[in-house]
Amino acid sequence: MNKKIELSANALTVLERRYLKKDKGKVTEKPEDMFKRVAQNISEAELRYGKEDSEVEKIANDFYELMTKLDFLPNSPTLMNAGNELQQLAACFVLPVEDSMESIFETIKHAALIHKSGGGTGFSFSRLRPQRDRVLTTGGVASGPISFMKVFNAATEAVKQGGTRRGANMGILRVDHPDILEFIKIKEDNKELTNFNLSVGITEAFMEAVEKGETYELINPRNGEVVKQLMAKEVFDLLIDSSWKSGEPGIIFLDRMNETNPTPKIGEIESTNPCGEQPLLPYEACNLGSINLANFVNKGKLDYKHLRTAIKLSVRFLDNVIDMGQYPLQQITDIVQANRKIGLGVMGFADSLIKLGIPYNSEGAVTFAEEIMGFIQQETKVASEELAQERGSFPNFEMSVYPGKGMKGLRNATTTTIAPTGTISIIAGVSSGIEPLFAVCYKRNILDNDELLEVHPLFEELAKNRGFYSEGLMEEIAEKGTVRGIKGIPIDIQQLFVTAHDISPQWHVQIQAAFQKYTDNAVSKTVNFHNEATREDIKEVFMLSYKLKCKGVTVYRDGSRDNQVLTKGDVK
Ligand code: ADP
Repeated sequence: MNKKIELSANALTVLERRYLKKDKGKVTEKPEDMFKRVAQNISEAELRYGKEDSEVEKIANDFYELMTKLDFLPNSPTLMNAGNELQQLAACFVLPVEDSMESIFETIKHAALIHKSGGGTGFSFSRLRPQRDRVLTTGGVASGPISFMKVFNAATEAVKQGGTRRGANMGILRVDHPDILEFIKIKEDNKELTNFNLSVGITEAFMEAVEKGETYELINPRNGEVVKQLMAKEVFDLLIDSSWKSGEPGIIFLDRMNETNPTPKIGEIESTNPCGEQPLLPYEACNLGSINLANFVNKGKLDYKHLRTAIKLSVRFLDNVIDMGQYPLQQITDIVQANRKIGLGVMGFADSLIKLGIPYNSEGAVTFAEEIMGFIQQETKVASEELAQERGSFPNFEMSVYPGKGMKGLRNATTTTIAPTGTISIIAGVSSGIEPLFAVCYKRNILDNDELLEVHPLFEELAKNRGFYSEGLMEEIAEKGTVRGIKGIPIDIQQLFVTAHDISPQWHVQIQAAFQKYTDNAVSKTVNFHNEATREDIKEVFMLSYKLKCKGVTVYRDGSRDNQVLTKGDVK
């Protein structure tokens, strides 16, 4: 384990700020040491399955190679905490919020402990009785889910100071909760619930009512009584209006998430993690990892053989993470061990397309997305079956949907998730998750008002090879924010280096849907709109993502929101 690793200046800054070990504020670990710490710690799980020391050492070496080649990286908490005191390795948690003071404030405490260790939390507030409902013990009136969400928000704010990264929450309310209208509008004031991403939990019944122009029922979760009827279309339009104004709330298709719930007998899925890519049962946690697709394109071709090896090793790594992780609560440990969910996904998708010469907004990209994710899905299942033979199936296997599908054994209840990879893609120096490029050239502020011109390395290489590189041209691209329509750039290059805003929202959704088709969990993706986009444009995208079987949608209209909880590419 002494291979040197090539990292960009950006990657080093991120690592030094949050990932490398420090003593009294001084960094005491090199990036190589960090990968060594992680590789050794995660390989230790092998000892539980009877591997000899020499075999464990070999596996540690393989993990080290896998990470230092930047072929695969685990989610941030694993890099930060493996082999350190915290040893909390998962990025995603969902905690239940029951309709009682005890439950609400217990959950706030548990969320604080999770935030401290770098995990993100999701909650459904749908079980809380609505505003002005009765409180039996006091004879008073209830203050409703939104007032309690504000308490969660304040607690997260306070933990921010001392944690490994700022806390992030997902807050979900079902569309049939009586307080839904207030929930939809809350983020129009951008000072509200700043530590939350919000999503409305959409049901099939609601979507049908929208399509037929009918009403639907609002139900008090305390006693199941129908409180009111609303026109579904009016609520949908309100939701679109809020998304247009502030990018929030997003939507998740709850029934669809439950259709693909691998363990319906164990529980119902009510919420996802903060960025929406991981639906989980109450108390469940999941660790994620991402394959860097850009690394697998050689001479204009995808190296499937190399990819297969990397997938197999990554699944082993993520399964080991489950055993090595320590969780702040016994309930979490129990269900994590029983379902053993992992989420392998990709980063550097846009970069891999560029290397293959395929524009992001093209049928070719959709086909490639399906092909590559289909392959990853299949290979993760093979790897998980092999692990089941070696280590046994996940304990809830017999109660899961898999025996009914004729499967004999599987180590993990889920194997695939597409994460945003906000930070790990910076460490790997590639485009994040399955998002398109955000810029080809841009100016980055460095110390004392100095600016540094950053040029996408693949663009620089191509521009030099094809003889159109000049500093002036790079400056011009940075100013315009696109390579489209710039004289001196060949048309095929203009088409290849498309950025998020050059791409129509429909293509964004099509790519998301292509990945979703072969992903067990969900897909993190933002559909970008120009500032001039209309409400009708947003509505079309909501309907398209419903039609194409996405599990949720997040939209962002340029300039509509200045402080997001988690911005893609954010240094967290
Ligand atoms: P990374 O690149 O750091 O591994 P991602 O951007 O892929 O992380 O996010 C994956 C998940 O990690 C998110 O959906 C969320 O659950 C969690 N997460 C990300 N950033 C934070 C944060 N600042 N605080 C808490 N959890 C976070």
